[in-house]
Amino acid sequence: MKNSYDQNNIFAKILRSEIPCDKILENDSALAFSDINPQAPVHVLVIPKNAYVSFYDFTNNAEIREVELFWKLVNDVIVKENIHSKGFRLITNSGNHGNQDVPHFHIHILGGKNLGRMIN
Ligand code: 5GP
Repeated sequence: MKNSYDQNNIFAKILRSEIPCDKILENDSALAFSDINPQAPVHVLVIPKNAYVSFYDFTNNAEIREVELFWKLVNDVIVKENIHSKGFRLITNSGNHGNQDVPHFHIHILGGKNLGRMIN
C-alpha cells in the first residue's frame, strides 16, 4: 500500500503531463528532466514513473527490473551530459532529516563544475 503517497505532488503532475518539464531522457521505468532551480551547470532530476515517496520506498517496493532501468537512466544522463570524466554528485534527500521537498523519489545529478565539499 502507498497510502502515504501524495498524488498531487509536483512530480506526479509532471508525470501526468499536467505541468511541463524540460525532458532530458526517459525509459520504461524513469524520466529525467532539468531542475527548475539549478544548483550547478548540470542539474538533472531522475524520477521513477511509478509512485514512490522516497529512496527507501522505491528500493523496498519496486520490481528489480524497475530498479535496474532507473539506475540505467541515471547513468545514461551522466553520459549524455558528458560529466562522466570530470565527475559529478548524486544526491537523494529523504524525509524530514534529509529536507526532502517533493515527496516523490528523485535523484539529483549535479555536475559541470567543482561542487565543493559535500556538506557545508
Ligand atoms: P528535494 O528538496 O525534494 O530533494 O528537491 C526538489 C527539487 O525539485 C528542487 O531542487 C526543486 O528546484 C525542484 N523542483 C521543484 N518544483 C519543480 C518543478 O515544477 N519543475 C522542476 N523541473 N523542478 C522542480
